[in-house]
Amino acid sequence: MTSFDRNAILARLAALRAADAPTHGGHVLSYVYDSGIAELDELAAAAVRMVQPVNGLDPTTFTSVAVMEREVLGFARELLHGGDDVVGSVTSGGTESCLLAVKTAREAWRARGAAGVPRILAPVTVHAAFHKAAEYFGLDLDLVPVDPDTGRLDAQRLIERLAPDVALAVVSAPSYPYGSLDPVEEVAAACEEAGVDLHVDACIGGWILPFWREPDGSAPAPWDFRVSGVTSLSADLHKFGYAPKGASVLLQRGRDRQRLQYFATTGWPGYPVVNPTLLGSKSAGALAASWAIIQALGARGFASLAEACLRATRTLADIVRDIDGLRVVGAPTGPLLAVAADDSLPEERRVDPHHWADRARRRGWHLQLQPGLTQPDGTHLPHTTHLTITPVTRDRLDELEAALRASADEVRGVAPVDPAVALAALPPVGDRALDSDTAAALLRAAGIAGDAPGLPDEQAPLLALIEALPRPVTERLLVELLGRLVEPT
Ligand SMILES: *Cc1c(COP(=O)(O)O)cnc(C)c1O
Repeated sequence: MTSFDRNAILARLAALRAADAPTHGGHVLSYVYDSGIAELDELAAAAVRMVQPVNGLDPTTFTSVAVMEREVLGFARELLHGGDDVVGSVTSGGTESCLLAVKTAREAWRARGAAGVPRILAPVTVHAAFHKAAEYFGLDLDLVPVDPDTGRLDAQRLIERLAPDVALAVVSAPSYPYGSLDPVEEVAAACEEAGVDLHVDACIGGWILPFWREPDGSAPAPWDFRVSGVTSLSADLHKFGYAPKGASVLLQRGRDRQRLQYFATTGWPGYPVVNPTLLGSKSAGALAASWAIIQALGARGFASLAEACLRATRTLADIVRDIDGLRVVGAPTGPLLAVAADDSLPEERRVDPHHWADRARRRGWHLQLQPGLTQPDGTHLPHTTHLTITPVTRDRLDELEAALRASADEVRGVAPVDPAVALAALPPVGDRALDSDTAAALLRAAGIAGDAPGLPDEQAPLLALIEALPRPVTERLLVELLGRLVEPT
C-alpha cells in the first residue's frame, strides 16, 4: 500500500481554494448560484460521492444513471410544459446542450434533403455557445441586431431573414447579456410556418422563469413547450437548479428528431459506442446531485427560491436606477441586470459601469464587465456591467447597496477608459496572425500578463482594449492569456 499524507495534500488544496473568489454568500454576481441552503449543498455533495466511481457512459451497466436521468427529465418536462412527445438528455452544461441542439438541427436539415452550408439565425444577444457551435459544426451564424438602447429583439427583423438555408433559429429566455426575454411566440409562429427548427435557450432562465412574475404580477409571455413552434429547449441545472457544475437539460420535441442528437457506431473492434452527448466516459456526479436537489426541493422549493431572487432583483434594479449616472438596460425578465452609463445626463454626472465594477471589487463585490459591441448594422451596444442575482443576494442587500452607491460616488464624472489611450500603450499590432511569444510580449506590454496568475486589479483598461483591437487580435491575445495560465510547472 502506498502511503500518503492526506492532511498535507488537502491542506494545500484548502490554501489554493482560499485564493478563489468566494463561491458562497453572494459576493460574486455571476458564475455561482448559491441557494443559501447549506443542507442542500451537503446533500448534493453526498450524492456526488455515492456515484463517484460510476461511469455515466453506460446506463445499461450502471442502471442508477438511467433512473436518475429519467426522473430529472420528467421533472423538467412537466415544469416546461412538454407533452409526451418531448424527450431529452442530461448534458454536462449549457454549452453542451446548445452544441447538441445545433448538431441535431443540422442533421434534421440535411435529412430534409438540403445541401450547402446551413445557417443559424439568432439575435446578437444569443449566447456565445452558438458561435462555438457554428464553428465546431460548420454552420454560418447570422446575427440579427437588437435595439441598442434596450437590448430587445424586434421579432420582425429575425423573421424577415428566415429562408430554406436556416437550419436553426435561436431565441433566449432570457438572454445572458441583458436578461431580455425574446419574443418567442412571434418567432415560433413564423418558424413553424417556414418549417424551420427553433431552439429556446433557457439555460439561465429554465429553472426560474416558470416561477417569475412581471412587475404587474403577470407571468412572462409563454416561452417554453406551450409554444408550438419550439423544437428544443436548454435549461441548466448548474445555474438556477443550484447543482454543482456539470449539469444541464436538453429537451427536444419529437423522438425521431431527438434521435439525430445521438452518435452511434459499431464500426470498430471495441464496444458499440452509443452516445447521446459529446463525452464518452463521464461522471454521474452532477446528475446525481441535480436529482437529489430536485427530490429535496420539489416545485415548491424552487418557487420559494425564485421568490427570493425576484424580490432581490426588483430591489437591486430600483437601487441602480436610483444611483445618479447609471441605468438598467431595457426591461429584464429574470434575475439578471445589465447596467450602463446614463447617457441622458451630462458627462460629469455619468458613472462608467466598468470603473464602477472595479471599485465594487475593491469592496469585495465581483460584478461582471461586459464589453461594448458594434452590431452588423453599425449600431453600437454600450459596454455594461452584469449582475446575476441569486437567493442569497436577498440577505445581503444592505451591504451590497452601500458598496454600489459608494463605488458610484467615487467614479462619477470619471470618463470611460479611452480605447485610443489603451491602444497607445501597445506596440503597433495590425491584424497579422500572432505567434505565441509575440502575443505574450504584447500582453506584458499591456500590463496584463505578469508573473502572477489572474487578471489585473483594474479591469476597465483590459475591456477597453478588447473593444479597441481588431477582434481576431483580441481573441488571439485572450487565448494566449489563458494558455499561459496553465503552462506546465
Ligand atoms: C450560461 C449560459 C449558456 C452556457 O452555459 P454553460 O453552462 O456556461 O456552458 C448558454 N446560454 C445562456 C443563456 C446562458 O446563460
